[in-house]
Amino acid sequence: METDFENRIISPDELPDELDSDNPLRPSKLEDYIGQEKVKQNLSVFIEAAKIRKESLDHVLLYGPPGLGKTTLSMIIANELGVNIKITSGPAIEKPGDLAAMLTNLNPGDVLFIDEIHRLSRSVEEILYPAMEDFSIDIVTGKGQMATSYHLPLPKFTLVGATTRAGQLTAPLRDRFGVILRLEMYTPEQLSKIVMRSAKILGIPIDTDGALEIASRSRGTPRIANRMLKRVRDFAQVMNDGKIDYQSAKTALDRLEVDELGLDSNDRRLLEAMINFYNGGPVGLETLAAAIGEEAVTIEDVYEPYLMQIGFLSRTPRGRCVTKSAYLHMGIKFPGTENEQITFENKNK
Ligand code: ADP
Repeated sequence: METDFENRIISPDELPDELDSDNPLRPSKLEDYIGQEKVKQNLSVFIEAAKIRKESLDHVLLYGPPGLGKTTLSMIIANELGVNIKITSGPAIEKPGDLAAMLTNLNPGDVLFIDEIHRLSRSVEEILYPAMEDFSIDIVTGKGQMATSYHLPLPKFTLVGATTRAGQLTAPLRDRFGVILRLEMYTPEQLSKIVMRSAKILGIPIDTDGALEIASRSRGTPRIANRMLKRVRDFAQVMNDGKIDYQSAKTALDRLEVDELGLDSNDRRLLEAMINFYNGGPVGLETLAAAIGEEAVTIEDVYEPYLMQIGFLSRTPRGRCVTKSAYLHMGIKFPGTENEQITFENKNK
């Protein structure tokens, strides 16, 4: 069974029209970046200190699920430091030479942002070690006896790496980051501030109840909140003179088949498969992926973080399990006893 993942309104991945770096919805200053208070506090100290010492900022690793604001934050870092940023991604850098060219073109203090840094190839990653540590690279040209090695000094730059999976980073790469920051999912209140801010930028009339309704269905993810805002605007234009309030937001999101908790038909299919075929689990990731015809990585990166965040899914050494709250939400009777569930939930705290 194929899923329409690419077009899911709740897909946290960027859609083509959201890709450009001039996206007006991206805040450009730390003070406009909503939520992630701990991350912001730490970063502002490190940025300030680097500016006082007139040094480049230590390399920064940002990790967390897609759509939480890692790219935005890297642009803010460059902006606050008053330097340029070069943006690339792990899979886009094919050869060591590509990375070498990028590094030698940086100006002192610049930020190099590598998204999906866990997907760098081994040979490219090896160039990065001395670049990060000693600000130099060794390039070998020619083969065999004709091979010549050049030692090239690099300007002092800041590498900002982003990954959805800190666990997949090799230890030597991870160890070379001085600052490691984890982004958390956003609360509905924070997301509703983001929705209000975006609505103002886009000139969309919205009230606080409308914003909160969009926020609470956005799975803790600003990218999804902004996307829903645009889709709800279409409905509001036709139904409510363009004004987004609680009712027009609710009607629009119901029509888009995103439920009150932000689950769409794919999440429900996953939960139903676990409940109906595997008695709620435990079920292994690969088995589950085959059962619903989805990639295991998609389940791990996209479906699971949010289902776990809202307490619908838990990971155990024996596999994934559906919790009682998920049964309730799906309107399916929970087969275990009350006590069983209490010990089960406590075990997973
Ligand atoms: P990631 O790189 O983690 O996938 P992005 O940085 O591309 O996520 O963020 C996705 C979108 O969400 C951006 O276009 C931006 O408008 C918005 N966004 C993310 N974080 C925030 C935030 N803290 N405050 C306001 N908007 C945000």
